[in-house]
Amino acid sequence: MNDFLVRGMTADGFVKITAVETTQLVERARQIHKTLPLATAALGRTLTAVSMMGNELKYDKGSVTLQIRGDGPLGAITTVSDSEGNVRGYLQNPAANLPLQANGHLDVGNGVGEGLLTVIKDIGEREPFTGRIELQSGEIAEDVAAYYVLSEQIPTVCALGVLVDRDQSVKCAGGYLLQLLPGAPAGLVDLLEYRVQDVGSITANLEKGLNMRQVVEELLYGMGLQLMEEHPVSYECKCSRQKVESALISMGREELQKLIDEEEKTSVTCQFCDVIYDFTREDLVDLLKVQKS
Ligand SMILES: [Zn+2]
Repeated sequence: MNDFLVRGMTADGFVKITAVETTQLVERARQIHKTLPLATAALGRTLTAVSMMGNELKYDKGSVTLQIRGDGPLGAITTVSDSEGNVRGYLQNPAANLPLQANGHLDVGNGVGEGLLTVIKDIGEREPFTGRIELQSGEIAEDVAAYYVLSEQIPTVCALGVLVDRDQSVKCAGGYLLQLLPGAPAGLVDLLEYRVQDVGSITANLEKGLNMRQVVEELLYGMGLQLMEEHPVSYECKCSRQKVESALISMGREELQKLIDEEEKTSVTCQFCDVIYDFTREDLVDLLKVQKS
């Protein structure tokens, strides 16, 4: 089944939910970056979260960047989503490894460590909006929920799950963001907390054969859930030769001249998809001309 995102609201208008199934796109990220399980889980959770954050944007040419910068062995994780929920991302140390936790789970919290979570929302006007909080646990779901509470004052439950198979491929992955809107009665929080516990972990549900729409329906059972959106999402890099040329030009005359003097051939690798763009000396001389005019 292809990855997809669903968005809905309860009939009383107090609960908003976004959920996404990301098995394919997390597997794609694993293949591109050759991540070991710990990094697959950390990058996969972050990609899942940013997909839902991007989908919230009202501006259809916008993007959301979610960066997790901790002091653990995984290093910085950078992910970007467009306004549909299509994502790309990378992390510093794809081969980082730690022993499993006592419960058999990957130790993402210690892999990430202590540090900052940053959200940059580019909505195509003036300065992008930037919000930043200290990481709470490094497990990512808790950190994303805390971001919404502390930075946007929206009571939020975030769940993210990536299950890595024995052959290190991604068996299943997904997540949801459950948010309360202003005026929600206090009792609703207790009910939702109960439901979240009762429904259980995302990967357990996906492994059972449910999809994320069914998980959403269980979470909000009997509350008049109305689905407003459902569409596929994927791992999508937006790089192009033209963008790489612009980046080379923006390095400035001196740097470009230095490359021309010293290198027969210059290769630029896209960090998001590992595609390599090759430039001959003549190509760069042409770029320098563009830079001059
Ligand atoms: Zn790319």
